[in-house]
Amino acid sequence: MRNLWRPKAQVLIFYLEDDRFAFGFNSLSERNTILRGGPWLFNKQFLLVLAEANNMTYPSRVPLVHQESWIQVKGLPFYYMTRQMGKFLGNQLGKYVLTDQSRMKERFGSILRIRVRLDIQKPLRQYVALQLEGRTLSVDIRYEKLPFTCFLCGIMDHVEDQCEKYHGPQDNDYAKPYGR
Ligand SMILES: [Zn+2]
Repeated sequence: MRNLWRPKAQVLIFYLEDDRFAFGFNSLSERNTILRGGPWLFNKQFLLVLAEANNMTYPSRVPLVHQESWIQVKGLPFYYMTRQMGKFLGNQLGKYVLTDQSRMKERFGSILRIRVRLDIQKPLRQYVALQLEGRTLSVDIRYEKLPFTCFLCGIMDHVEDQCEKYHGPQDNDYAKPYGR
């Protein structure tokens, strides 16, 4: 984890159980930088889900079900590349956090970039259908730093052969809508 974060402060790591760890920081700002800086991918593919704990919580019982992520929305008409639209889309996908204003100025590559708090137990959506001026428009959703995700159902917290939709190695690629 130290290699992943390259922290500027001291980090203590405690192993709790299974895949669960507790981290202690001697700098609040460094703690917040790491907490808000995710998603962090372990071995470049496994999502490290972080949640805050305080002196009164049992670290082994803190629910690890949400992850903030940068999301790129592609296919929006120029006029709708706004923070208001970012907020609307963000709340369709999870809980809206913010819109990348640095990209808004240049309207970079016609991508609207938003940060969203996702429920990792729900399938990742690959598009959102919008009603704009009486027309239905489908916009593509891309997730930055996407961890290893189940190819069958698009959920982040397990892989294909642990999935309830898994029927065995005979499943062909057409049965894997989230395959990359
Ligand atoms: Zn699955």
